[in-house]
Amino acid sequence: MEKRELIYEGKAKRVYTTANPDLVVQYFKDDATAFNAKKRGTIASKGVVNNAISETFFRLLEANGVPTHFVERLNEREMLVKRLQIIPVETVVRNIIAGSLAKRLGLEEGKSLPEPIVEYYYKNDALDDPMINQWHVTVLGMATAGELQTVTDLALKTNTILRPHLEQRGILLVDMKLEFGRHHGRILLGDEICPDTCRFWDATTRKKLDKDRFRQDLGEVEEAYHEVHRRLCAGT
Ligand code: UDP
Repeated sequence: MEKRELIYEGKAKRVYTTANPDLVVQYFKDDATAFNAKKRGTIASKGVVNNAISETFFRLLEANGVPTHFVERLNEREMLVKRLQIIPVETVVRNIIAGSLAKRLGLEEGKSLPEPIVEYYYKNDALDDPMINQWHVTVLGMATAGELQTVTDLALKTNTILRPHLEQRGILLVDMKLEFGRHHGRILLGDEICPDTCRFWDATTRKKLDKDRFRQDLGEVEEAYHEVHRRLCAGT
């Protein structure tokens, strides 16, 4: 499927139309941004690695009953996906305290939560993606109550599927950000699932293997992305 017209360019991806109005191509870039694009850089081969890691996760999720936008990986940097009407809510699922949760509530990073926490953020760069709750989502019309229930159920199911899969490969799923959209009346998991959008820690050493290495200038950024790729996609 050939890409045609550029319809969206984000921080890490471009989206193109195809001859089929139901399908679009996601092109994965090496560009990296953090702190709402106040910090910019590139991570060599990030696009290639994130495309492959996302493919692995989407295939695993589809096989376990989570509907996603994934159709096929076209080449190193391109993935064919179903076109979504994106719900403007970023759903975060957390298993271990880190990042904004630690900061906002003064909690110690690294403590396991007794059960996952789900949070919602309004997808709006100009406002720095503010945190919202279920009432903001439904009363302000971002999604219906039924859609939000589906989003929440699918986010938790995604967490339940990915966590043991990662742990078998020596990786802790600390937290992750998911995006959902509508496609012919169905809610599908969209976007990407990769070290840009999840926190992954080595299960033994607790070394960060994700975008926090870039955000916090920890070094060995490319190596971390490649390490996750090696553990998840070896032999594929
Ligand atoms: N996240 C993301 N995009 C965002 C904000 C967060 O992919 O715009 C991911 C982030 O990588 C982490 C999870 O969502 O895996 C929770 O992020 P958090 O709320 O702790 O925010 P941060 O510390 O990244 O600002």
